Amino acid sequence: MIETFEEIGIRSELLKAITELGYEKPMPVQQQVIPVILQSNRDIIALAQTGTGKTAAFGLPLISNIDEKNKNPQVIILCPTRELCLQIANDLNNYGKYIIGLEIVAVYGGASIETQIKQLKQGAQVIAATPGRMNDLIRRKKVNLNDIHTVVLDEADEMLNMGFQEELNTILEMVPSTRRTLLFSATMPREIANIAAKYMKETQEITVGTKNAGAENVKHHYYVVHASDRYMALKRIADFFPDIYGIIFCRTRQETKDVAEKLMKDGYSADALHGDLSQQQRDYVMQRFRLKNIQMLVATDVAARGLDVDDLTHVINYNLPDDVEIYTHRSGRTGRAGKSGISISICHTKEKFRLAQIEKMIKQKFEHKLVPSGKEICEKQMLCLIDRMETVEVNESQIAEFLPVVYKKLEVLTREELIKKFVSTEFNRFLEYYKNATDINVSANSERREGSPRNQAAQGFTLLRINLGKMDGFNPRELIGMINDQTRDRSIVIGKADIQKSFTLFEIESSQVDTIFKAFKGIELNGRRVFVERSREYGGEPREFKRREYGSERSYGGDRPSGASRSSSGGDRSYSGKRSFGGDRPSGDKPRRRDRKY
Ligand code: AMP
Repeated sequence: MIETFEEIGIRSELLKAITELGYEKPMPVQQQVIPVILQSNRDIIALAQTGTGKTAAFGLPLISNIDEKNKNPQVIILCPTRELCLQIANDLNNYGKYIIGLEIVAVYGGASIETQIKQLKQGAQVIAATPGRMNDLIRRKKVNLNDIHTVVLDEADEMLNMGFQEELNTILEMVPSTRRTLLFSATMPREIANIAAKYMKETQEITVGTKNAGAENVKHHYYVVHASDRYMALKRIADFFPDIYGIIFCRTRQETKDVAEKLMKDGYSADALHGDLSQQQRDYVMQRFRLKNIQMLVATDVAARGLDVDDLTHVINYNLPDDVEIYTHRSGRTGRAGKSGISISICHTKEKFRLAQIEKMIKQKFEHKLVPSGKEICEKQMLCLIDRMETVEVNESQIAEFLPVVYKKLEVLTREELIKKFVSTEFNRFLEYYKNATDINVSANSERREGSPRNQAAQGFTLLRINLGKMDGFNPRELIGMINDQTRDRSIVIGKADIQKSFTLFEIESSQVDTIFKAFKGIELNGRRVFVERSREYGGEPREFKRREYGSERSYGGDRPSGASRSSSGGDRSYSGKRSFGGDRPSGDKPRRRDRKY
């Protein structure tokens, strides 16, 4: 196996450029693909994930073989999205920057075709294109195809997924039949084999890693929670990995919007990427994510396709994808370019068989992880804070003039007191947040059905029963309003509630049970006595309050405004009011991470 780029036999101008880029030795896909392209005329099917270095695997030898004196197109690279198209053109430009006369043009939909036609007229040896636009240009006879000697189909499976089959067929029929075809794909669905059979000859198949396997340095973790606890699990996972930089995959645009919105409202560094955004909005979000101004990007599979980011720490499957192959694509977005990554799946109990299917496909085992407890999260955050403090750069000259006053103010504190106060300043909100955090893990083998009875309140909470339910038009908002008004104490923490037909079960801080009993003694609603009592049975899975609906003005709410008003009941009820409540972590009051890396 060839170990160095020098041995591989690419032009010296390319060697100089890639040395500057820091490429020390060829990656496995490059070791296998480059010699075949340089030394033979065979077609290639390479099964390789994105992030394995495949752009250089075809880009370096193809540029090496370009005749830069001939201004006609010689290589067409087809790829699924505008973003990938631009990325390929950019990478190739970087590789070929010392080759005078080399021109690479990117053509893609959603941009002025006239400008692209002008660029092509000026001469370009390499065209990176999306299939739709390429097809259009060919139909308009704006591309001279006579000297095309190579067509690359990059992310071929994605192009097929996106419905480009017809365009690909047309293009492959129009280019000279003497050309060679290089096909790169992360997976090998039957349609790819069909293309190969129809349009390729003397094909050499190259597999990097295991066929259809997830990237080697990706660990696959799963968490099992009730479906209703999915979002809460996501928040805890995000809190447990303070330096997370990842994509959260959702199934639908709506879910993407909802999750991103909730995360943003809850103070996380997140945004959404989905098909309802204009190209300009998409570019903006992607750019912010690339620059790490956003830590978590909530995206649909289609929208995330064009995004090239190499150093994701995590990919989170908010829902497992319907199609097992999509899982491979998602998880392949982390663990790139030799880095390690974690692909997390938040599952509910019924999804175990799907995990087994995926395991079979990726030939790797999932590791069952427990959603971290409040204590574990606090510990992790605390250590992260200390780490950040340890490594922070001190600008001696700039702070020097302020230090005497600071020293003076702090001189009364001992070392221990100083440390305690420093940690508490940043940390009290977190501790408070997770004070009553319940365990939301569900055993992966649990026989308990979603929504089946649970007869225990969370730790620190007592389960109460009130004789108002759906029949009375009762809802969580009204419950909160009622407790607000009757107790006149907005700090009482309410956990989960389960509104049944004729009654409601709700969790209340155990220390406040007597207050509730006292406050509700002898009250009536529309002429009916209202009773609150301890519950002896629990007839349903409690629903987590949508905390945001009711807002929060908790004192630990950080410096971010809580947003939603807390006005609770509506209609003809008289017990409206404002209060806060908790259980797990209320929204809007995510402790802000100061000095964030991102
Ligand atoms: P790709 O699979 O083409 O998207 O490449 C993934 C990443 O690996 C890109 O950031 C490339 O710049 C980088 N890369 C490609 N080849 C090498 C190499 N031989 N050494 C180091 N990095 C590389």
